[in-house]
Amino acid sequence: MSSVLDLARPDLVALRPYEPGAWEPGMTRLNANESAWRLPSDPTVRGLNVYPPPRPTELREALAGYYGTQSGSVLVTRGSSEAIDVLIRGFCRAGQDSILVTPPSFDMYRVYATIQAANIQSAPLARSDGFTFDLDGLLAAIDETTRIVFVCSPNNPTGTVIDPGDLVRLAEALENRALLVVDAAYQEYAEDQGLDALLERFEHVVVLRTLSKFVALAGARCGALIARPVVVGFLENVLPPYTFPTPSIEIVLAAMAPESLAVASQRIEETRAERNRLSQALAGLENVLEVYSSQANFVLIRLNDKRQFVEAAHRGGVLVRSFSGDPALADCVRITIGLPADNTRLLESVAEGVS
Ligand code: PMP
Repeated sequence: MSSVLDLARPDLVALRPYEPGAWEPGMTRLNANESAWRLPSDPTVRGLNVYPPPRPTELREALAGYYGTQSGSVLVTRGSSEAIDVLIRGFCRAGQDSILVTPPSFDMYRVYATIQAANIQSAPLARSDGFTFDLDGLLAAIDETTRIVFVCSPNNPTGTVIDPGDLVRLAEALENRALLVVDAAYQEYAEDQGLDALLERFEHVVVLRTLSKFVALAGARCGALIARPVVVGFLENVLPPYTFPTPSIEIVLAAMAPESLAVASQRIEETRAERNRLSQALAGLENVLEVYSSQANFVLIRLNDKRQFVEAAHRGGVLVRSFSGDPALADCVRITIGLPADNTRLLESVAEGVS
């Protein structure tokens, strides 16, 4: 019977995982070469003198609840960045297999693929089409070495989303050929994209989520890879044990409380309203040639004179993001939606700059 693990690295499918020392509550722990003493400054409940659990199972339950799935479908990672890394290491043989990306997009797919010596295939988003997703172009770029197709929706840095129908067609086309990874880091700012149904239907679909954006925990480094338990179980053997630190477990668990998430939800409307205000105001500037329609917590703009814009923002005390590595973005700048006062500050700075 064909399985999604036929796409994975055979040497890792066969890997015998590390066996961590047992943890039994109430038992004296002389099995892990830890210190018996806690530091006076240790703020954690578990204690920093002992290792965290090999896998943060309690956190995994909480994240499964938040993402509306079962805990066996969730792999907790240090940011979704680590999920990208572990996927490429698990599915791409160095020097043989490829990932396929749709630039301009999140650049870390390329970085982790290069670290693993995987090939990088590319199906660029057309700038002339407002960076919309090109399903036919992507399908034409796939070959027998392709192991993972990374799509990002809403896409960083364009803010554009993929049509849910295209996602289904893509998943259908990749069945038994490659893993489809949908990086949904900015999902909470966007409309529903039908990702639950996609995960339900296809064994080779993986969704990446993060607490770094909407949940406002970028500093805690917590991401989630959501997939079928067979995929999660395999990746658990690739990801070393004890990677997720005790302070982050405790902080993220507290943040997952309903009253804490309710605060994050209240900020969604404000972020969307500010995104509209900023987009409209920027579109009115002479220097701005295009404001791309965004469903994330940032907007991408194309400029007549990028340097002038970036320097004017900087003089006003505001950093915006320009991209040096991608020619399609040579005259573009990405602006994160800040507090209303921050956005106003940016608008005031660049208005002076173009007058
Ligand atoms: N995916 C996308 C699309 C991103 O923009 C980012 C961060 N900018 C990440 C993944 C990684 O985020 P983190 O590791 O903080 O979860």
